[in-house]
Amino acid sequence: MIDLLSITKQELEELLSQWKEPRFRAAQIMDWLKKGARPEEMGNIPKALREKLAALPFGGVRLIETLRSKKDDTAKMLYELEDGNIIECVLMRYSYGNTLCISTQAGCRMGCAFCASTLNGRVRDLTAGEMLSEVIETEKNFEHGGERKRTVTNIVLMGSGEPLDNYENTLRFLQRATAEDGLRISPRNISLSTCGIVPRIHSLIEEAPHITLCISLHAPNNEIRDRLMPINAKWRMEELLPAAKAYADATGRRVIFEYALVDGVNSSEQCAAELASRLRGINAHVNLIPLNSVKERSLMGVSRAYAHSFEELLKKRGISASVRRELGSDIEGACGQLRNRRMSEKKMRENENENVKANPETNGRAEDDQ
Ligand code: SAH
Repeated sequence: MIDLLSITKQELEELLSQWKEPRFRAAQIMDWLKKGARPEEMGNIPKALREKLAALPFGGVRLIETLRSKKDDTAKMLYELEDGNIIECVLMRYSYGNTLCISTQAGCRMGCAFCASTLNGRVRDLTAGEMLSEVIETEKNFEHGGERKRTVTNIVLMGSGEPLDNYENTLRFLQRATAEDGLRISPRNISLSTCGIVPRIHSLIEEAPHITLCISLHAPNNEIRDRLMPINAKWRMEELLPAAKAYADATGRRVIFEYALVDGVNSSEQCAAELASRLRGINAHVNLIPLNSVKERSLMGVSRAYAHSFEELLKKRGISASVRRELGSDIEGACGQLRNRRMSEKKMRENENENVKANPETNGRAEDDQ
């Protein structure tokens, strides 16, 4: 059974007709859902119907912590799913609006060598409703120093998880986020980032032609990409780059290539030259970012100054490029790090509680220490 937050208006109308409830309730219920209300809070819905709705899985996330950057206006939120899993989300302020970076899976199974999200594999896919709830709860909970509530104007699917490894839910999320009866966010304000699942990129041409497609490239050739990204064993650059070009050509939308500069791996002048020649002819922009070092990984980033010199090397060869602004560096760097720490703290607490239950006398201290 699909969760309530994932449901489309049409599906809700069908459900209401099965329940012999009037169809107009659908719009009322959708309005409540958008505001982050749970069935029991839906004031204008009769109690019997509220109870039927409450019996369905809901699909909401619950805010457990917000970290605010002291350097800039970035905030990182930790959300708990109904099954106790924890995910993270980042809200960034730009001149054009507020961008929310959301997770699409709890964990990730893509195995990129530099990424914290994949260290413990994928736990599960998020439903469309859970992704939507990340946006709704952020809007609901975010107040900034007494200012009016900040609204989310842009969404990037760049948190933990691989959106194209959770394809159906991601498409449904895009539908709900952009629909008139959903969050009404323009698809042009939504970016989806993928490590390069080629057949799905081709499907997006038909199924999501108005979004911004971002591709985590991180290498100028297969040899280097093989070292960083296991997906490259399956989908080679000879297939990935034409898929990116096909998306850009068919949709008229410029594709973004993300390139994390890793010291001594993909950052040489020769790499810049090779990258430029591979990307020539694709309507694209390269987003450079000095790798955020993850403590469990041995790879190191380059300095921002060096990233700018790499940018110049690309530009000199006619490739549009920029170095991504660094935001929220004081509230846990690379995505997935904070989640990993919280999940292991939570596991430790649960183990302690188990011990306490199993052996209340000798382990009583563990509980006192919490
Ligand atoms: N699975 C998707 C989206 C999630 S990762 C993807 O692979 O694109 C979002 C972006 O952060 C990707 O470009 C990813 O390669 C990058 N990233 C992950 N770990 C990083 C790190 N330690 N430093 C810099 N960028 C990183």
